[in-house]
Amino acid sequence: MSRARAVLAEARAAWALPEGSGEPFLLHDPATGEAMASYRAMDAAAVAEAARAAQPAWAALPAAERGRRLWALGAAIRREAEALALVECAQTGKPIRDCRGEVQRVAEMAEYWAGWCDKLEGRVIPVPSGHLVMVEHVPLGVVAAILPWNAPLFTAGWNAFPILAAGNAAVVKPSEYTPFTALRLAQLAAALDIPLAAAAGGASTGEGLVASAAVAKVVFVGSPAGGAKVAAAAAARAIPCVLELGGKSANIVFADADLPTAVQGAQQAIFAGSGQSCVAGSRLLIEDAVEQRFLDLLHQAMQRIRVGDPFDEATEMGPLAHAAQLAHVRALIAGAPALQGQAPEGGCFLPPMVLHGLAPDAPAVTEEIFGPVAVALPFSGEAEAIALANASRYGLAGAVWTRDLGRAHRVARALRAGTVWINGYRTIHVAVPFGGFGASGHGRSSGLEALHAYTATRAVWTDPREAPALFFGHRP
Ligand code: NAD
Repeated sequence: MSRARAVLAEARAAWALPEGSGEPFLLHDPATGEAMASYRAMDAAAVAEAARAAQPAWAALPAAERGRRLWALGAAIRREAEALALVECAQTGKPIRDCRGEVQRVAEMAEYWAGWCDKLEGRVIPVPSGHLVMVEHVPLGVVAAILPWNAPLFTAGWNAFPILAAGNAAVVKPSEYTPFTALRLAQLAAALDIPLAAAAGGASTGEGLVASAAVAKVVFVGSPAGGAKVAAAAAARAIPCVLELGGKSANIVFADADLPTAVQGAQQAIFAGSGQSCVAGSRLLIEDAVEQRFLDLLHQAMQRIRVGDPFDEATEMGPLAHAAQLAHVRALIAGAPALQGQAPEGGCFLPPMVLHGLAPDAPAVTEEIFGPVAVALPFSGEAEAIALANASRYGLAGAVWTRDLGRAHRVARALRAGTVWINGYRTIHVAVPFGGFGASGHGRSSGLEALHAYTATRAVWTDPREAPALFFGHRP
């Protein structure tokens, strides 16, 4: 029996995860291709209705009590950190050390949002009529979060906790490929009387949530194609839908950069998580004066990346998460000239790769690959770097490597991207607003922006005068 299969069987038995009775799913071990687990989809409408029933009591709690419960959820996640990391490793094929890190981040997210619960303050607006106008931020009700498979627990916490902090109930719909850590998170939340539910299943479960009259808002994290469908379904019900989609982010290396550090950064940008990261630095823009030297250094470094068993403590890059993703990546990169590292045979493994010499309109250059594959593109000078970086329908992230501080900020300001790193890559934090432009979606899913995204304002007008002036129409 593969390690992944054993880990999932043991955890599911220990946790007694809820079972659905709908569409069946069979999951395969990303590292070996063997069947590793099966489950059935849950009834989305029933989960959404239960969340609707639970939300008013949650919203009615003293805000500080909501905060205490979210803080306790963080502690519960920390207590189960190793088991959660093992299950995440099994279902995604992501290296265990990365999974451990992600679980810690999720606990930190719960603690961060715990602190916001009692700080959602309103304001008073001085209108000319003399009314006292108070503006409150009120919860929306039930918010559904439809999520991808690349970082299942991380995206569940990232999206659900601000929803909860604002007084809503949250229903997360994990990807059909990776349901188990989100289901466990929902169990941990339920034990603390926190209305965070999980509805395991595929696209039809997601459709069921969006169609449910219990759901007041949807956040969709996934592909542009899926997002377009979900946004259309939400619009048909006249409910808001936030889109957090993919990327084709430009990682720009100027000739004056510290090249060895930039080489490390370029690897972190595209090979972490086997490139299955929305912010992946998948377009590697290199100033022509150093292009060959940079690619030589990068190629050498790629030989040393440890690609292999996700459960091995030393592994830096695992397989892709599932066979459909492997086929998608292979189709996009077929026939392209590539520098590459090593990878085991079989399963969903791919070696780290850098494609070069491609036409600007080649699909590998324009489309999100979502695998360990960067496309190298040479440029000459700052203006061309900016033009090339912005020549994408996506706009999620970008990076600039240079020793010239003025240039770093000029380029950062010119990039059409929601996150820009200077001499770094890939850091994100729950306190910092995150989101994109264009085909990368439009939501801001963390920081104060996220808290406000899950509330509506209510204006309360009071006329404090002894003789309120009531009249029809407008005063001249
Ligand atoms: P996907 O669009 O195939 O699926 C995402 C989720 O949507 C899944 O849970 C799926 O079951 C559900 N879904 C699909 N069609 C649906 C429909 N018609 N109605 C309701 N639900 C539906 O995406 P994926 O392959 O799971 O994830 C990869 C994508 O996610 C990449 O493009 C990646 O860049 C993106 N992503 C974005 C962010 C971000 O914050 N911007 C973070 C992580 C991943």
